[in-house]
Amino acid sequence: MEEFLNGLSNLKNTDFRLLAAALNASSNGVVITDHRQPDQPIIYCNKAFELLTGYSKKEIIGHNCRFLQAQDRSQESILQLKEAIKKGEHCQTIVKNYKKNGRVFWNELMISPVKDASGNITHFVGIQNDVTKRVVAELQMEKQRDQLDEKVRERTNTLEESEAYLSAIVETIRESLVVLDSQFRILSANHNFCDFFNDPEDTILGRDLFEIGSGKWNFPELRELLTKVLPHNNPFEGFELTHEFPLIGRKTLILNARQMTLKGKNQDRILLAIEDITERKTMEYRKEDFINIASHEMRTPLTSIKGNLQLLNKIAQKKGDTDYTRGFLAAGKSVARLERLIFELLDVSKMQSGKVDFNFESVDISSLVDESIVMMQQETQGSTIVVSGLKGQFVEGDYGRLEQVMINLLSNAVKYSPGSSEIKVHISSMPGYCKIAISDQGIGINMKDHKRIFERFYRAEEISDKFPGVGVGLYICNEIIKEHNGTLWVESEAGKGSTFSFTIPIAKNN
Ligand code: ADP
Repeated sequence: MEEFLNGLSNLKNTDFRLLAAALNASSNGVVITDHRQPDQPIIYCNKAFELLTGYSKKEIIGHNCRFLQAQDRSQESILQLKEAIKKGEHCQTIVKNYKKNGRVFWNELMISPVKDASGNITHFVGIQNDVTKRVVAELQMEKQRDQLDEKVRERTNTLEESEAYLSAIVETIRESLVVLDSQFRILSANHNFCDFFNDPEDTILGRDLFEIGSGKWNFPELRELLTKVLPHNNPFEGFELTHEFPLIGRKTLILNARQMTLKGKNQDRILLAIEDITERKTMEYRKEDFINIASHEMRTPLTSIKGNLQLLNKIAQKKGDTDYTRGFLAAGKSVARLERLIFELLDVSKMQSGKVDFNFESVDISSLVDESIVMMQQETQGSTIVVSGLKGQFVEGDYGRLEQVMINLLSNAVKYSPGSSEIKVHISSMPGYCKIAISDQGIGINMKDHKRIFERFYRAEEISDKFPGVGVGLYICNEIIKEHNGTLWVESEAGKGSTFSFTIPIAKNN
């Protein structure tokens, strides 16, 4: 060693010792390799290097430095070192090394060539520093960063997937959808909206809904409804609009709008959904026209059948032929049923077009109830109708139409109470109104049907093939009661009977 150092400089003996002592006192590991010998063996190492590697000097001297790398020789930093040694250059890098006990340590290594007077490399001096703690911390940080990146990627993917999913739904549904800001500017619109109303997306985004297409959406009622959506979270549903739109012609639309929410918080955005019901409406009109025409056409022959049956019945009665009279009576009943059905169907279409005239007068409700029961006598045979409550109560109404309501409700009570006999009619009064309630002990009505039974042609599913009917009676009753400024409602439970009640305003001079 001293010989080597002697060769490097012209230092004195005492200086060598001092230098050797200084190197041994250094906390950095120091090694010197001989570049002139085959496989560049280590010819010197200090104490710190022994401590760093766990090897003793005698196990180190004479070896090539690679013994510290075990089998882990494909590291990029080692290639870097080899290159520097080959070129005789200085190099600083971090290498993954192994201690004698096999444990990994990260070695921050700096090598420098030592040259002789003629510039040939004779040795390399290597300074080593254990930076395991720092590298491990950095690696951990890197790992955490990678994990974070992965999470962000996953989150982004999920978001992208949900966005794609949502936009697929938005684009697939048949409804036209538009998102508006608080100033009714269009923030987005689905393809259906753009295609259906012939509005290329780039020409409508950011524009006022009421201004696009030369103000084709500028309906005061729509503006009023939309104005109320945001301030008080006032959604609207089922706003029907019929309009002659440019290019697409006359359309009937149903519009629904609601405030948009994000994570439960209301946004300053309105989602407007538009459904085109033109075809459905046309079909409905056609169906109504057909029912109207068919009912009209059936009325004349039915009147003739009815007249002839009555005539034949009289003849048979005169002849005392009971078989014939029984037959004519049964036929007469069926004709009466048919007549009522035709009358009801015609009524529906009249009510639809608002062509029903009402003749209001003061009506004694208890005599109306009694008379309806008499009219129903044939139908209600086998059932008992018990009337209770007030008498002498007058309401403001159309006698014929109110009788129609009573007959309808009574005949339903009989029809839907097979096997049970008592039907109760109760008349009561309350400030400004008279109330009539008709209760039966029949099959009752499921909660889900309570509202729908007042719709045209609606019949509870479970009964439709067991009881005859077309589902217009209650619709007509409801329209009549509404026209009287009253209300009609049902209280019922499946299997527990039903009570249909209606109110009518009391006559003013009562
Ligand atoms: P229809 O009796 O011809 O079906 P309605 O309009 O009079 O037509 O009645 C509509 C539906 O309401 C009936 O189909 C039936 O499901 C239900 N309904 C009406 N009245 C009663 C009642 N008293 N008891 C049970 N169900 C009833």
